[in-house]
Amino acid sequence: MSTLVDRIKTRIKREGSMSVAEYMSLCLLDPKYGYYPTRDPLGSDGDFITAPEISQMFGEVLGLWVIQSWKDMGSPGSFNLVEMGPGRGIMMSDMLRAINLAPDCMENLTVYLIEASAALEAVQGKTLENSPAPVYWVSSLDEVPLGPTVIIGNEYLDCLPIRQFIQTDRFAQIQGWRERVVILDPDTDDLTFALSTEPVSEIVGATFPSAHIDAKNDELLEICPAAHQTLDAINDKFRMSPGRALFIDYGPEVTEFGDTLQALKRHEKVGVFSDPGNTDLTARVDFAALGEFAESLELPYMPTVPQHEFLSKLGIEMRAASLAKAKPESKAKIARQLERLTGEDHMGQLFKAICFQSNGMGIPLGFRNPYDMV
Ligand code: SAH
Repeated sequence: MSTLVDRIKTRIKREGSMSVAEYMSLCLLDPKYGYYPTRDPLGSDGDFITAPEISQMFGEVLGLWVIQSWKDMGSPGSFNLVEMGPGRGIMMSDMLRAINLAPDCMENLTVYLIEASAALEAVQGKTLENSPAPVYWVSSLDEVPLGPTVIIGNEYLDCLPIRQFIQTDRFAQIQGWRERVVILDPDTDDLTFALSTEPVSEIVGATFPSAHIDAKNDELLEICPAAHQTLDAINDKFRMSPGRALFIDYGPEVTEFGDTLQALKRHEKVGVFSDPGNTDLTARVDFAALGEFAESLELPYMPTVPQHEFLSKLGIEMRAASLAKAKPESKAKIARQLERLTGEDHMGQLFKAICFQSNGMGIPLGFRNPYDMV
């Protein structure tokens, strides 16, 4: 068992129960024992694999998306390209290779990476050693200089800490919700879940997505305050300069109830308390809640599209065909990679893209024109 588990237990003994968000945050980000700061978890030898790790095509077509976004911002003389949670830096490196196709765009961009893990920051430094654009690491969006900005995050939102609530008395409406918290089992001293005895505060209840009113007794709702903070910071930026932010992640289009906190180790699901700090913890992204929050900020956004549709519109099939033509011996492998990224039984349907932008930016590449929808 990890040392982190002892620290978590000591803290619960001293201060009482902790929220799922606090637990998740300690497991993932504790600087000394947390999951991300202490390792490189990605790839086939690691605990999980992501789209840019599957194929270079993913980052390359996103590079085209960046070029188009730069044009939609009015082809500014300088702009920021920000990546949140860049993993091993592979997606950025693939994007930059594609952006090189538009030298006037490339000349004007500066890369900013926002990464919580020192270990991954070192890997990113190596991957981007020969970057055609200057690369800086910053700790938050507020540190990115003012000016036109394109922001991208792939599988970033799913590792932000969530809070969980259970409806215990639907007739009491907001008063019926109780937070699910982490305590020590009085018999075994192991970490376990319990329900807070206090009703949810009005301030927190006000941040619930609108679908919470439909919950039946015992249904569980997840909220992600850190995602809201990210949108707040994006909104502040986009009020001052043109900008566009794209997030790709797994989750439903409409708010769904249920516990989605999951732990992964070596590509297998394990218990969330099985080995704190040594397993990846994520939760599905509630895209509807993000859209509602953007609306409350009056931040324009494009409703989600499934990854297969988004990547197809960006021309991933054509990219696959040209890669296969250049390397006929890899044709079958490229077809398999394309299927993993876009197949409806793979990432194509479960993963979705959502886009937030400043006023007056037009429809981003890959999204639907809301006026076409009936
Ligand atoms: N985007 C990459 C990696 C996804 S894994 C890819 O698609 O392959 C999640 C990434 O987010 C890791 O780089 C992790 O260290 C980083 N991360 C997690 N929580 C973060 C936080 N609060 N702030 C910044 N980065 C974070």
